[in-house]
Amino acid sequence: MLMRQVAEAFQSLELTSKRSEMTRFLADLFEQASAEDVDILVYLLRGRLGPPFEAPEFGVAERLILVTLSDAVAMPPCQVEALYKKKGDLGLVAEELLPQERSNLTLRDVYDTLRQVATATGAGAQERKIRLVSDLIKRSGGLEAKYILRMLQGRLRLGVGDATIIDGLSEAAGGDYGLRLQIERAYNLCSDLGFVARTLFTNGPTAVEQIGPRVEKPIMVALAERLPSPQQVINKLGRVEAEPKYDGLRLQLHKDHDRVRFFTRRLEDVTGMFPELASAALRQIRAERAVLDGEAVVYNPETGEYLPFQVTVRRKRKYGIAEMETRYPLRYFAFDLLSVDDRDLTRESLLTRREELVKVLRWRADDPIEVTENIITDDAAELERFFQDQIQRGLEGVVVKRPDSPYQAGQRSFNWVKLKRAYRGELRDTVDVVIVGYLVGKGKRAKFGIGSLLAAVYLPQQDKFRTVTKIGSGLTEVGWMEMKSRLDELRSERKPARVDSLIEPDVWVEPAVVVEVLADEITRSPMHTTGKVGSEQGYALRFPRVVSIRMDKGPEDATSEQEILEMYQMQQARPVEQPPDAGKPGKHAA
Ligand code: AMP
Repeated sequence: MLMRQVAEAFQSLELTSKRSEMTRFLADLFEQASAEDVDILVYLLRGRLGPPFEAPEFGVAERLILVTLSDAVAMPPCQVEALYKKKGDLGLVAEELLPQERSNLTLRDVYDTLRQVATATGAGAQERKIRLVSDLIKRSGGLEAKYILRMLQGRLRLGVGDATIIDGLSEAAGGDYGLRLQIERAYNLCSDLGFVARTLFTNGPTAVEQIGPRVEKPIMVALAERLPSPQQVINKLGRVEAEPKYDGLRLQLHKDHDRVRFFTRRLEDVTGMFPELASAALRQIRAERAVLDGEAVVYNPETGEYLPFQVTVRRKRKYGIAEMETRYPLRYFAFDLLSVDDRDLTRESLLTRREELVKVLRWRADDPIEVTENIITDDAAELERFFQDQIQRGLEGVVVKRPDSPYQAGQRSFNWVKLKRAYRGELRDTVDVVIVGYLVGKGKRAKFGIGSLLAAVYLPQQDKFRTVTKIGSGLTEVGWMEMKSRLDELRSERKPARVDSLIEPDVWVEPAVVVEVLADEITRSPMHTTGKVGSEQGYALRFPRVVSIRMDKGPEDATSEQEILEMYQMQQARPVEQPPDAGKPGKHAA
């Protein structure tokens, strides 16, 4: 496949924000691709060189790209720089300076060269990168170079999410949306859409159905819905299994013989950050291969008390690991077993999976890995007592699960329900929102160039982000400055394709940064697009403040529009019963 064909499709994608048109363009593109090319095409559409958990970073400085471009077009760097200042995008500069005729550069050439650029290390790596990029530019036409340079800068941003790519693949392979669910299921179990696409194009839909969890690939995590009270949980779910809800870092543990890897819920490979858990896993897990789901929490060994998320997240770092290990010791609470010795357990019931988990884990007091305790009940009063016990212990609440449910990778469903403090009808629960822009503002912070953040929630069915609030508090001065520089890297000249907004911020940013906010309540609002149908009002968070920056969550992990609507219903319903400590502040309450 020629890079020119890909670049033309990228251009069409860039010019539309209509999901149906995007799907059509993608399906046309996939129809032209061979089975050998389709995986790299899927990766490059997201500006990556592989699935998120193993794609190397490009690591090429902007200055270096600029100098290389000026060398390739034989123009002094200062002139290229002047053009860059005018256009604000090196891709557009390359498009203008390079010849427009077709080149014979293939998609495979581009991918292979970009991989060599990304993986070059050691002495002379910079020179090698320059030579590779320069050769690539010299062989490209203007249109191809535009997208290659944007990729190198991590600024491809075509506005297509995984959901739209899945629709495009389904349409290309089956002529309609009929394969969408199969592709999505396989993708959720291996997190590698390129691999699923290649399997589909090589061996057809049956082979896609056979894709299951594998130790070498992270599985997308199952997520919980929420309900306001134990009684409502029992009304909706009947008999349930309930576990304490720990406020730590979701970690998927993969053991393969003597190797242990960890992935976050964003599928980041964080192997190496938790050495004590890795050696405990080798000691404690009785299987050669196993995939566990659980929550890691920092605790105080003197008091036995568990510390909040903000402390646990300090363990997520690449350096000073030994020091962190002594300062912030971890416990890992395993609550699920997804595969064991290549047996896929995701289709088994929760109770079967937990039985296997208990069997597979060797565990004495003081071992760092343990299975979460649980109760099984259909009695609201018993669930209430269990819930109160967890609150007394300083935990967030409970997660209640359907005993007969399979593990629904990548899905938020009522198979899991979180029950946190949210009694008095106020919003005690936090909401995770994605930043889609910022306003400069007039207040005292205007001198930093950032006054408030425009934030959105996610609508998975349409792969859209809809605005829900403007946030102006919760960060320190340094926090605001750091936030601004982070957002400036994601700056977009236009409204990003996946964003639905009536408010025009001073600066648009690509949806990537997730912050956890606490708000007073949800109100109806004409300004925001969340839940807005026709000319009716939307929904908004009132008086939001930032509680934490969720580096562990991706934009699609943000609270969904549906959840906001449900939280609004709960807030309206205001249960009559008031548990004895309902007035005590929750962990995040201001
Ligand atoms: P939230 O982040 O508020 O949507 O709550 C869901 C999160 O709670 C999950 O993603 C897990 O990280 C965490 N969690 C803590 N304890 C449990 C548990 N026993 N079962 C499932 N998830 C849990």
